[in-house]
This record gives sequence, C-alpha cells and structure tokens, in this order.
Amino acid sequence: MTQIDPPQATSRQPVLFVGHGSPMNAIEDNAWRRQWQDLGRQLRSRPAKPRLILCISAHWLTNGWALTAMDVPRTIHDFGGFPQALFDQRYPAPGAPALARSISEQVRQPGIQEPLWLDDGEWGLDHGAWSVLKPMFPEADIPVIQLSMDYRRPPAEHLAVGRQLAALRDQGVLIVGSGNVVHNLRTMRRDAADHQAYEWAIEFDRVTAGHLAAGRTDALADFQQMGAVAQMAHPTWEHYLPLLYAAGAVGDDETPTFFNEGFQGASISMRSAIWG
Ligand code: ZN
Repeated sequence: MTQIDPPQATSRQPVLFVGHGSPMNAIEDNAWRRQWQDLGRQLRSRPAKPRLILCISAHWLTNGWALTAMDVPRTIHDFGGFPQALFDQRYPAPGAPALARSISEQVRQPGIQEPLWLDDGEWGLDHGAWSVLKPMFPEADIPVIQLSMDYRRPPAEHLAVGRQLAALRDQGVLIVGSGNVVHNLRTMRRDAADHQAYEWAIEFDRVTAGHLAAGRTDALADFQQMGAVAQMAHPTWEHYLPLLYAAGAVGDDETPTFFNEGFQGASISMRSAIWG
C-alpha cells in the first residue's frame, strides 16, 4: 500500500465541519464568509499547510462510497434560481488521482470491506465543497478530493467511514465536512435575521453542540432519538451526515472550537467547528 507521505508529527492536520447554508454565501460579503476567509488565512499560515483537502459534501450522494479521482475536477453548479454571478464562479483546484487511489486502499466500505470506488469523470466539485473552499483557499493551489456518501446506509456507517479518515490527517490531509447542523428548507424564512431561529432548530443545534463538545460520537449518530425535533431539523439527512465524518476523524482528546454559530433563514444552523 502506498502511503501518501512519510508521516510527520508536525504535519497532522485539523478537522473542519463547515455549515455552508445558502450558495450565495460563496460570493456575498457577509459575516459567515468573512469567518471562512479568516480561517483560511490562519490555516494557510500554519507551518504545515495541508497538502490535500478531502471534502465530504452534503451534495454528493451515491450508491457505495466514492472518491473523485480526476486530474481536473469541474466546478458543479448544482442549484437553480440564483444570479448569473454565482453560475460564473469557478474553483480551479486540481484533483489528485494518485492520492485518491491511495486513500481508496486505506478506507474500507462499511459492510462489504471493499476499497472506496474511484470516480474519474462523473462528479467534480459541487457547491457544498467550492462555496466554502473558495473563500478559504482562494488561490486554489491545494488539491481537492471529494468523498461521496451512500445515503442508503445508516448514520453509524457514515461515522465508521469518518473514523477511518483520522489516519489521513497525519499524511497532511485536511478533512472538511460541509453540511449544516440544522437544515430545513421548507420552513426557511428569508426575512429572518441571522440569529433568529425556530425553537426546534435552537434545541437541535444546542443538543448537537453538547454532543460535539463532549465527544459523544455515538449520540451524534443516534440523532433520530430526538424524535420530532430531529425530524424538523433534518426532514432529509444529507446535510447532517457530513458532521459524522468530521466528528469521526477526531481523537478522544480533541475538543472542538465553534465558529459561525447562528442561523440563516431561521432554519439553517451555520454552526461550524474545528478540531486540532
Ligand atoms: Zn447544501
């Protein structure tokens, strides 16, 4: 098996979970995006810059788990009803096919124990990835690989994949989960101020933050135990699942620092976290 790089203690990369919210956050000058820009500046100025970004986005769902493995991932505009300026956005970060092959060998598909599938043509970078990576790493000089999620599989299996990603951090890989701690588009209110939210949204966000702070990863995977509150917070789960990858890649001794706490449109939590 090829290692990506000789492991070096100093190159251990942090783990990020980013609440991405509206695609417009990619180009609007707002508090969320300014925070992404600040964080990117900090990450770029560390002695060991990431050599690869592995992004798990809410917007790539597949049968089985796959990695993008093309030299030049295209920018995917997977949304509708937004201004042309958003469709004009490109994020020209290179891919890293050799690293994708190496990661596919190191991480097993839960249940079937096979390597991750490689996708060398279909996908690219969807807006869950580029809308946050572009403000953070505007130079687009760090290769990006996306890891898909098998939406048919239970949350515990997503956590299990996340746990396998932990070892990649020592190989210079920055892991970025991109989704939202609360995400209900049906109940969104565009007139709501940034910190107004529904009670169920505040409740789910608060409980989840508590689990994250205490490292209760199994409780995070059991989020449906919260019943009606979980159902309102995530009528579908795809924006929650990336959180399980980030939390899974974290060691027992690491606690998160939260940023961008608050809500967009009253029903989208922008709460984000960094570990390490
Ligand atoms: Zn999204």
